[in-house]
Amino acid sequence: MSKVRVRYAPSPTGYLHIGNARTALFNYLFAKHNGGDFIVRIEDTDIARNIEGGEKSQLDNLKWLGVDWDESIDKGGDFGPYNQLARFEQGIYQKYADQLLANDMAYKCYCTSEELDAEAEKQKAAGSIPRYNGKCSKLTAEQVAGFEAEGRDFTVRFRVSQDEEITWNDIVKGDVTFNSKDISGDFNILKRDGIPTYNFAVVVDDHLMQMTHILRGEDHISNTPKQILMYNALNMEVPRFGHMTLIVNPDGKKLSKRDTSIIQFIEQYKDLGYLPEAMFNFITLLGWSPVGEEEIFTKDQLIEQFDENRLSKSPAKFDEAKLTWINNQYVKQLTDEQYYDLVLPFLQKDLNAEDNAWLKDVALLYKDQLSYGQEITELVTLFFKEQISLDEESLEFVRQEGVVQTLEALKANLQALETFDADNIKAAIKAVQKDLGVKGKMLFMPSRIATTGQMHGPDLTSSISLLGLDKAVANIDYVISQI
Ligand code: GLU
Repeated sequence: MSKVRVRYAPSPTGYLHIGNARTALFNYLFAKHNGGDFIVRIEDTDIARNIEGGEKSQLDNLKWLGVDWDESIDKGGDFGPYNQLARFEQGIYQKYADQLLANDMAYKCYCTSEELDAEAEKQKAAGSIPRYNGKCSKLTAEQVAGFEAEGRDFTVRFRVSQDEEITWNDIVKGDVTFNSKDISGDFNILKRDGIPTYNFAVVVDDHLMQMTHILRGEDHISNTPKQILMYNALNMEVPRFGHMTLIVNPDGKKLSKRDTSIIQFIEQYKDLGYLPEAMFNFITLLGWSPVGEEEIFTKDQLIEQFDENRLSKSPAKFDEAKLTWINNQYVKQLTDEQYYDLVLPFLQKDLNAEDNAWLKDVALLYKDQLSYGQEITELVTLFFKEQISLDEESLEFVRQEGVVQTLEALKANLQALETFDADNIKAAIKAVQKDLGVKGKMLFMPSRIATTGQMHGPDLTSSISLLGLDKAVANIDYVISQI
């Protein structure tokens, strides 16, 4: 078998989306698993829809995820992936369009946009799906000369066979068959400005770039029969196709750009302080499953294990709880320094916190539970609030008999400490047990609620020591006042 070569071909009409990122990752893993090449090709020929920063977002975020491509080309000192617009300027696509024109497998279409729109309206009014009516497919030489003399511009259309079965064996879906009747008539391969359409440019490039497999989202499945017809017309070998099921939101609905039920752009995850290795891991599990129960894998392990036969045949449901769980697994593996580097910018920006040893210790209290960087600002609020407040459940707990005495004793023991550190604080709490005979939950829960305002939290004695005596006492006084 020839060397595996696959590509990720984003259009810079948007930023790197979770769905595109998944396509990129699966292609990357498939290439690397097979010792093949992974190419990136920017499909930027739809100039009106390209957005400012779209290409940069695609590439920067791919790199952030740890996906690097093979074959960078020199763009005047700057190296980057292939761009179709640059290839258009080199005349690459025209050559193949000319070949199809010469073989009468394509023809020039002089219909104006107005004529095409009017025809489509007519068809819609009659209840049919608009398709090109083939008007220019059999023009006489005189008619062509007439249009040329008028100076009419033209598109180039590919002739679609009348009634042909087009079948391919899809990596994900098995045998798929379309009939050429269901393609909406002869379709454009060159636009009026000579720029190739997506379906044409993709065939020429996938051939010239020697792609062996095309793995993409199933939203492209109806393009595949068109592309196969062109491969055949150009006498090119047809690559192996695989169409991956789409990602759906937690309600099982297809994702739309406006869907706010999940975060959709990779950049947003980066900005929220998710870790790239965790995102790589999570995205790979969207529509692909490893053998066995394990779900945490490094990139190298995923490369090793990737098997295209395990791509899911049903839609991949986005599970946010799984994402935060996976990210937390990676956060826990960070060194304390790496962890602090992750959370510090959020503490500084959102809480105006000053970078010092105290802040680092406070942040480290939450290392085991942090799901993503920005979450730190919610987790540490206790250390930044002027005044704690109690929820109903906590209030109910501290209003039990004997709690006031426990808290008074705790306060006195804390105030009596010479050195206010975690070990001594522990001893001070224990001493309450000795003084009053309260123990277990009736000792620790009031102590926790009265000092932190919360029923659950990180290590209590470290938390109290980081709060400092004054704050701890003020909190206890406040809680006593609420009883
Ligand atoms: N430019 C196309 C897209 O962004 C690529 C489709 C394909 O992989 O063929 O959807």
